[in-house]
Amino acid sequence: MPAKNIGIKGVEPPAKECNDPKCPWHGGVKVRGTILQGVVVSAKMHNTVVVRHDYVKYIRKFRRYERRHKHIHAHNPPCINAKEGDVVIIGETRPLSKTVSFVVLGIVKRSGER
Ligand SMILES: [Zn+2]
Repeated sequence: MPAKNIGIKGVEPPAKECNDPKCPWHGGVKVRGTILQGVVVSAKMHNTVVVRHDYVKYIRKFRRYERRHKHIHAHNPPCINAKEGDVVIIGETRPLSKTVSFVVLGIVKRSGER
């Protein structure tokens, strides 16, 4: 099954194919809502990665920004197979499990060590 058009600019379809039903390119998962960029901090779960997303929040009292971050669980389809240290684009989907409602769409920059 070739990769379908997921309607999101800035991400290229993966070179490999897979038959994962939770893959945005080859399965039945639709991406809608938030699109974020982050770094994979853990890839130890089966087909799931933890992504660290850094952002700034404006604090009105001090008229300055403070840096914040959050850890997001994202489904990692076998055709993309993101590893620890990779910079990835993730997109919001329907809840795929108790803690996962994002899916990895593509890798921006692979980590140097592999
Ligand atoms: Zn796939």
